[in-house]
Amino acid sequence: MGLAENLEAVKEKIAQALAQRRGPLLTGDEAEIVAVTKNHPPEVITAIQALGVPRIGENRVQEAKHKAEAVPKKGSWHLIGHLQTNKVKQAVALFDLIESADSLHLVAAIDKEAEKIGKVQDILLQLNIAGEEQKSGLDREDYEALLPQLSKFPNVRLRGLMVIAPFTEDAETVRPVFAAGYAAFCKLKALRPEIDILSMGMSGDYAVAIEEGANEVRLGTCLFGARDYSYKF
Ligand SMILES: *Cc1c(COP(=O)(O)O)cnc(C)c1O
Repeated sequence: MGLAENLEAVKEKIAQALAQRRGPLLTGDEAEIVAVTKNHPPEVITAIQALGVPRIGENRVQEAKHKAEAVPKKGSWHLIGHLQTNKVKQAVALFDLIESADSLHLVAAIDKEAEKIGKVQDILLQLNIAGEEQKSGLDREDYEALLPQLSKFPNVRLRGLMVIAPFTEDAETVRPVFAAGYAAFCKLKALRPEIDILSMGMSGDYAVAIEEGANEVRLGTCLFGARDYSYKF
């Protein structure tokens, strides 16, 4: 199937998942697609944006930088992979939203680089809800310690939360992870009514994530097919 057909199938599945929700949610009644173009050549960015998907997700700063030089940078670019402190300057220059803010140290570094270029950098805090050792993301304790510190960083604007569920063959098994993500979002929204993004769900589990309240899903494989790890830039 081609990209346009894949996108139509995804939109249909999103609509079905929205219809399965338990009623009005604090995340609104829509779910936006972030097209994850990592390990695909720059042209797929142009192609998916031409089909009406403005949001692009990339995992690595270097790869995204290369692509931003190869195609006109339109729409909104999201960093969804772990960010190292030594790449923060480039990330702040390039990305509209950093979804993977996962430590106080990193937030401080983002604030510093954003200030230098007169930007207020939108971020999500990435939560490690399932407590997976190997995954990045804040555990509950660090998250709760970080929140009251955010006011120290005026060049960073918190837009919401990002959650990655553990990989599974059966998305039903990670439903509680997404439910916990939505609960965390609601709790945070009570304190900060301005937050508006709950980014949860990938190709294998986005329907369940939307049912549980995600209003942004990060989709690669179901749009573009398998990633090409030989792709070099
Ligand atoms: C690669 C990646 C995705 C997209 O994964 P697919 O399974 O190809 O949809 C989404 N989110 C993050 C954080 C990723 O690293």
